[in-house]
Amino acid sequence: MDDPDAPQSQAQPDPQDANLTNPPADGVDAAAPGPAGGPDPTPSGPHLIHALIGHGPGGLSETVRNSIGGLSETVRNSVTSLASHHDFRLRKEKEKLPDLEKGHIHPLGKSESLRVDGDEDALSKKQPVQPPPVEPSPLHLLTLPPEIQSEVLRHLDFPDLVNIRRTCHQLRAFASPHHISILMGPGRLKAQLERHCKCCLAYDAFQSHMIRGSLVDPAYPLSNACFKCALKANDHRLRPGNMITLANGTRVYVCRWCGMPVDFGFAAGNEQFHRRCYSLYNDKLVHFFFIGCIQLGLGFVSAVLAWIYFRNIGLVLGSTVASFLLLWMCLGIIIIRGNTRRSNYWTLLCELAILWLWMPPVYHIASAIASRSPGDAPIPKSTIACLVIFVLYMLFRLINLAGNIILMGGYDITRCTRGNVPRWRRLIDPVLRALVFWTYPQSIQK
Ligand SMILES: [Zn+2]
Ligand SMILES: [Zn+2]
Repeated sequence: MDDPDAPQSQAQPDPQDANLTNPPADGVDAAAPGPAGGPDPTPSGPHLIHALIGHGPGGLSETVRNSIGGLSETVRNSVTSLASHHDFRLRKEKEKLPDLEKGHIHPLGKSESLRVDGDEDALSKKQPVQPPPVEPSPLHLLTLPPEIQSEVLRHLDFPDLVNIRRTCHQLRAFASPHHISILMGPGRLKAQLERHCKCCLAYDAFQSHMIRGSLVDPAYPLSNACFKCALKANDHRLRPGNMITLANGTRVYVCRWCGMPVDFGFAAGNEQFHRRCYSLYNDKLVHFFFIGCIQLGLGFVSAVLAWIYFRNIGLVLGSTVASFLLLWMCLGIIIIRGNTRRSNYWTLLCELAILWLWMPPVYHIASAIASRSPGDAPIPKSTIACLVIFVLYMLFRLINLAGNIILMGGYDITRCTRGNVPRWRRLIDPVLRALVFWTYPQSIQK
């Protein structure tokens, strides 16, 4: 409000100050020269200073006033914007609070939750998020890390590795030959393969109970076989008296009694027998000697009895004399042929001839006994005794004949210790074995 008492001079502004308070109209420069020689176009005094420092024509006071006004407007706009943004955030968080009360996970994650923590109501209603339950995993070899599984494989023997490959597809793929060769190394793997039987995987550290396999075997170096497996497979090298090479390079014989390689404890004076087998063989030779003596005695006694009691009968006398001569001939063949030459054919002919020659005396006595009438004199005891001895002697010769037939068939005493033997062969083998030992046990050395 204007003061009426104010001096008049204050109402008349200074012509120089008029430029500060009343700026020129648009399009008219106050500093521009007038048409009739107006003011100097070059600024001077406060205008120059204001122009130099960038103030307007009103000077510093006008600049300060304008600045304060602009600053207050800016502050007011900023405060209004912040207030509206805060209201927007609060409304948004309140809309999400029902989801938190239901236990839902905040979709914006932990950082967003921390910003919401500023609201106490929302914090009081927020529930802790429970992790999902973890199901217990089974505890077995396959759940271990591959490094530990490899370490387990490294400490297994070869049979265990083979067996573990048979358990499941996963372990079969894991324990692959390539992986095993890497774990064990080529040297240890080759030594392991050479010390195991290719059939039963039995381990032989010294390779003294295994037969060396062939280098062309597809499974080499897993080509050696233990004795039992080689016998079961009817290995052609395991024949009595053959010399074979063990897996450790030792050359040994195959026992002629049991058919097993003589890898240790061979008999003194005969490397082709185990010590125990050679003792059993010698026992059979003793039995054979006694049987031979009994046969020889029966042959001698039978011939003498026939010559005493049936000397008047020409057929009996002639046949008994011939058989007696053949008896000594057969004994001579057995003594001469030794243990190396086979003579089963000649002894078979001799035995057959002796048996045939003793048939007439036995037939004559038997027919005489059968043809007697009830009123005749009783049969002499000597005749009965001669008949018994003759039959017993023929029985011995019959057994010899059967034994020689078996020997001519190439009987192998160790055949049943090997595989692929028919059942009937196993059943009659004891009988065949007894006949061979009765007739000629030395045949196992041929
Ligand atoms: Zn084996
Ligand atoms: Zn033996």
